[in-house]
Amino acid sequence: MKYVDEYRDEAAAQRYVEAIQRTVTRPWTLMEICGGQTHTILKFGLDRMLPEEVTLVHGPGCPVCVTPVELLDKAIAIASRPERCPEPCPEPRRRAVEGVTFFSFGDMLRVPGSHKDLLMVKAEGGDVRMVYSPLDALKLAQQDSGREVVFFAVGFETTAPANAMAVWQAQQMGLPNFSVLAAHVLVPPAIEAILSAPGNEVQGFLAPGHVCTVMGYWEYEPIAEQYRVPIVVTGFEPVDILQGLYMTLKALEEGRWEVENQYARSVRREGNVQAQQIIRQVFDVTDRAWRGIGVIPRSGLRLREEYAEFDAERRFDVADMAVEEAPECIAGLILQGRKKPPECTAFGTRCTPEHPLGAPMVSSEGACAAYYRYGQKT
Ligand code: SF4
Repeated sequence: MKYVDEYRDEAAAQRYVEAIQRTVTRPWTLMEICGGQTHTILKFGLDRMLPEEVTLVHGPGCPVCVTPVELLDKAIAIASRPERCPEPCPEPRRRAVEGVTFFSFGDMLRVPGSHKDLLMVKAEGGDVRMVYSPLDALKLAQQDSGREVVFFAVGFETTAPANAMAVWQAQQMGLPNFSVLAAHVLVPPAIEAILSAPGNEVQGFLAPGHVCTVMGYWEYEPIAEQYRVPIVVTGFEPVDILQGLYMTLKALEEGRWEVENQYARSVRREGNVQAQQIIRQVFDVTDRAWRGIGVIPRSGLRLREEYAEFDAERRFDVADMAVEEAPECIAGLILQGRKKPPECTAFGTRCTPEHPLGAPMVSSEGACAAYYRYGQKT
């Protein structure tokens, strides 16, 4: 299959491993910022093929994992409202409706909030549904005007255009019963937060190919320059990742810091300009809390004031909800590349995919799930 088989070719992979071995002369620490890349690294054992001087750490590249507990609790509070709003309805924007239908991507359903997850809300009678696109939620809002339809808009820049489009369409159609719980996060501010943290050891990055397909890579150039780190936009197949690692290590060994593009078959420097336009039209950049990490300035997206009527936090009055993170889960350290999943005392014992304590064990892109699934104990 074009663009898949050739990037899983064993001989090509071996050539990059040998090139890396010839290139590396001293210790380097590199980070990938994409859950898909993390899973490829673990699945194909790429980290085991590298010289011992190269340390790979995993960054906050799983959108489900970085969604804070607080937002999960807000989602659970909204999804748990099957009751009709009493008359007169105390919330001006909320009409007397039959209840709430809450749509979410599948990975979010099992991520634990403070006390329960969305699947439990469903088991208790809540109308919680898994969906692949916000447009499906929009369709239901059109068909059943007697229900409040809420979409859980999580993800990096990759999913933001479709979610922005859904909100824009809802406004065009004048849909009063559609809203989104927006939890988008942005990659460049996360990279800056990692690089500026005291004790940072990361010296080079693989940037996420999917995000850069939408946003391009011009945003990464000032970061590479300011912090003097090479950043290589990289794809998701084994040969992509080995080539991305080779390019990053070569730049480090040669004393270069710049942004390079390994994933040229999909990414252009300027990205998808139309997708960026719809993001900017509907969303504003805002400070955002990342699970286990805390607030990173200007690292998230929120609905612009012109679209405030589609903001589920305002409509359901959950904007001020705040909670504490569970102390046992060290997801924050894992998401910053400071620990690896097997260093968590709960890994594989009290925390498994069947009984997860934290999001990185639930999500299909989570680092803990990757280590558990592919049997890595170190
Ligand atoms: S193994 Fe479980 S408890 Fe430990 S960091 Fe990962 S998700 Fe959290």
